[in-house]
Amino acid sequence: MESIINEIAKNRDIIISVAYIISAILFVVGLKFLSSPATARKGNFISALGMFIAVVVTLWSKNVIDFKWIVIGVIIGGVIGAFASRVVAMTQMPEMVALFNGFGGIASLLVGWSAFALSPHSLTPVTSLTSIAIILSVLIGGITFTGSIIAWGKLNGKIYPKPFLFPGQKIINLLLLVVILVSAVLVCAPGLTRSLLVVTDASVMQNIFFYVVVGVSFLLGIMAVMPIGGADMPVVISLLNSYSGLAACAAGFAINNILLIVAGALVGASGIILTNIMCKAMNRSITNVLFSGFGAATTAGGKAEEGEVSPIKAEDAYLVLEAANSVVFVPGYGMAVAQAQHVVRELGELLEENGCDVKYAIHPVAGRMPGHMNVLLAEANVSYDLLVEPEDINPTMETVDVCMVIGANDVVNPAARDDESSPIYGMPIIEVDKAKTVFVLKRGMAAGFAGIDNPLFFKPNTRMLFGDAKASISALVSEFKET
Ligand code: NDP
Repeated sequence: MESIINEIAKNRDIIISVAYIISAILFVVGLKFLSSPATARKGNFISALGMFIAVVVTLWSKNVIDFKWIVIGVIIGGVIGAFASRVVAMTQMPEMVALFNGFGGIASLLVGWSAFALSPHSLTPVTSLTSIAIILSVLIGGITFTGSIIAWGKLNGKIYPKPFLFPGQKIINLLLLVVILVSAVLVCAPGLTRSLLVVTDASVMQNIFFYVVVGVSFLLGIMAVMPIGGADMPVVISLLNSYSGLAACAAGFAINNILLIVAGALVGASGIILTNIMCKAMNRSITNVLFSGFGAATTAGGKAEEGEVSPIKAEDAYLVLEAANSVVFVPGYGMAVAQAQHVVRELGELLEENGCDVKYAIHPVAGRMPGHMNVLLAEANVSYDLLVEPEDINPTMETVDVCMVIGANDVVNPAARDDESSPIYGMPIIEVDKAKTVFVLKRGMAAGFAGIDNPLFFKPNTRMLFGDAKASISALVSEFKET
C-alpha cells in the first residue's frame, strides 16, 4: 500500500497532466453535446465532470500551499450558488448570466494580479510572454467585470437601459485605450521604463502602471457598455461571455496552467460564435452593435401605429382553433413572464389529438437570453422535433391556419421588414402576419423590449387575446376539455 502511495506521489506531475488532458477532452465533448437541446443535459454533466476532475487534481497539485482560504471560498461560493439557484426566477436568468460573466472576468483579473505580485518583475526574469499574458488577463478581466455589471444593471432596469451617449465619448474611449497600451508596455518592459523615466529601479513605476491598467480597464468596461441600449444586450452578453473566456485563457498563460488555457479558449471561441449568431438574428454587425448607440432614438424612429385592434374572447378563439388544421405557436418573453410553457404544451397536445399539425417557431433572440424559449419548452417536455427555426417556417407561413403569438412582440414585428425608418428595420422576424389568422396573446398594448409600436396588432387577420398568457391559454385548454 505504502509503495503504491509513494509511486503515485513520485508520478504526481504526470498524473496531473493526464488528468488535465482528460478534463480538456471532456470539455470539448461536453460542448459538442451542448449544441443540441436533446443532448444538452448530457453535455452539461460531461463538462461538469471535466471541471470536477480539474479542480480535484489542481487542489492536489503541490502548488497549493494553504487549504484554509480555499475551503472558506468553496463554502461561501457554494452557499451563494445554492441559494441563487433556488431564488432566481427563470426570467432573471439573463441577469444571472451577466453576473456569471462578470465574476469570471474578475477571477481572471485576480489570477493575473497575483501572478504579477508574486513575480520578481523589477528584475525582469519574467518572460515577455508571461508579462503580456498577465496584462491581458487583467485588462480583459477588468473590462469583462465592469461591463457585465453594467449589462446586469441595464437588464434589470437598475441602470439607465437606453444608450448613454455624450459628445466626445469615442475620443475619451480612444484616450483610455492609449493610456492602457502605454501603461501595459511600461509594465512589461522594465528596461524601457528605466530609460524613459530615468529611474534605476523600475519596480515602483511598474507597480504604479500596473494599477493604472487595472483602474482604466474597469473604466473602459463601463464606458464600453453604457452607450449600448438594452435591446442589444443579448449580443453584449454573449460577447462578454467570450471575453471572460479570453481573460481565463490569458490567466492560464500567466500561471502556466494548460487546462485554464484550453477551457478559456473554448469559452472564448464559443462566445464569439454565439455573438455572430445573435448579430445575424438581429441583422446587425458587431461594430454596429458596439458603436452605434442603437435605440437612442427609438422613440423618434419608426411610424407610430394608429387604427383599431380587434380583440377576441377565449371562447371564440377556441372555435377557430378547433377547426384549424395547422397551428404555429410563437413564444416570446411574455411566455416566460407568465410561466405559460406547461399550459402551452397541454394546448399543443389537445390540438394534436384533434388532428391538427402543431409546430413551435423559435426566434433566436426571443425572450431575454440565447436559447430562452428552448429552455422553457424543454422544461415543459415539448418534443424537440416540433421546434422550427424562422427560415424554415417563414416560407410556409401562408399555408398556416393559426399563428398563436404568446407574449412575443419585437420578434414578430413586420416593421422590421416593411418600415425602413424603424430602428429594427432589417432584423429577421417570424412572419406571423402572413398566416391566415393570428392570435396575439398579451396583457395590453405595451411595446416590447425595443420600445416600438407593432403594426401586426392592427392587421385585418390579427385578433388580440388580451390577458396574462397563462390565463388565456388555460381558458382555451378548459374549452377543449369541456367539449
Ligand atoms: P418583447 O420584449 O418584444 O415583448 C414581450 C411582450 O410580452 C410584451 O409586449 C408584453 O406585452 C408581453 N407580456 C409580458 N408579460 C406578459 C404576460 N404575463 N402575459 C402575456 N404577455 C406578456 O419579447 P420578444 O421575445 O418578442 O423579443 C425579445 C426582445 O428582447 C428583442 O427585442 C431582443 O432583442 C431583446 N432581448 C433579447 C435577449 C435574448 O438573448 N434573447 C436578451 C435581451 C434582450 P404586455 O405588457 O402588453 O403584456
